[in-house]
Amino acid sequence: MKRAFITGITGQDGGYLAELLLEKGYEVYALYRRSSNQRFGRVEGILNKIHLIEGDLTDDASLINAIEVSKPDEVYNLAAQSFVGVSWKEPIFTAEVNALGVTRLLESIRLKKSDARFYQASTSELFGLVQEVPQKGTTPFHPRSPYGVAKLYGYWITVNYRESYKMFSCNGILFNHESPKRGIKFVTRKISKAVAEIYRGEREFLSLGNLDAKRDWGYAGDYVKAMWLMLQQEEPDDFVIASGETHTVREFVEKAFKVVNIEIAWKGKGVNEEK
Ligand code: NAP
Repeated sequence: MKRAFITGITGQDGGYLAELLLEKGYEVYALYRRSSNQRFGRVEGILNKIHLIEGDLTDDASLINAIEVSKPDEVYNLAAQSFVGVSWKEPIFTAEVNALGVTRLLESIRLKKSDARFYQASTSELFGLVQEVPQKGTTPFHPRSPYGVAKLYGYWITVNYRESYKMFSCNGILFNHESPKRGIKFVTRKISKAVAEIYRGEREFLSLGNLDAKRDWGYAGDYVKAMWLMLQQEEPDDFVIASGETHTVREFVEKAFKVVNIEIAWKGKGVNEEK
């Protein structure tokens, strides 16, 4: 039976990936951070099927211990301070987790289980100020936030461990992917939650920023399959994963209100639109 170790188990992707790996017959180990208000809502249904290991990407010893305990064939590093906005308020912490955290984990693997295959959750935010459309593996990076810059470090250290230590380490450069498990701070959930509340008569309007911002949105359940497939290849490599379609935030709002048959009354000029 193959063994997998996942960081970020309490996050959106962690939940979907753990379900997928269990379905495939893996023994699943997962890192979680202790908190005063422990939240395992996204993995409630499978909590008794996975082995939880306490630790933190900022703590070297906890990662070494986690690799020793789990003895993984595959490691999926999904843990991150994942919100771009927060990275401006907490740039040092973001770098600790999203940049140095990757080195800590790679070092733990190199020292304790160097044949383990490694997946790093890289991001389309590496492209930031886009240099060409569509972006692909050869497009130059130009991140535009502390989140993107920290993830760029994570990307390159993953490439370096592959090239220098011959470790099977891969980057998945994923565009946005959403689901009912998506964090509530992200625009898709902000919209879907507000639409549900307006439908139930619990609130009157929704305020949003740039309605013309375009995003490539995929489904998280599909994207975790891509993560798994990357680690099943004969040779390690980096891959860009996207749906190939972009839509505006405005379109998303229109579709969401259509689902509950509510006609939108737009107000404002796109900075503080109201329903
Ligand atoms: P998420 O829902 O925000 O989950 C982040 C996870 O990281 C949570 O389990 C969180 O644990 C954990 N974490 C944060 N800081 C940690 C630390 N210091 N030590 C250990 N664990 C820590 O993120 P997601 O949407 O599932 O995304 C998964 C990964 O893909 C992230 O690295 C993200 O940056 C990247 N990514 C996501 C997207 C997307 O559209 N979703 C696109 C490209 C790349 P707590 O519950 O304890 O906070």
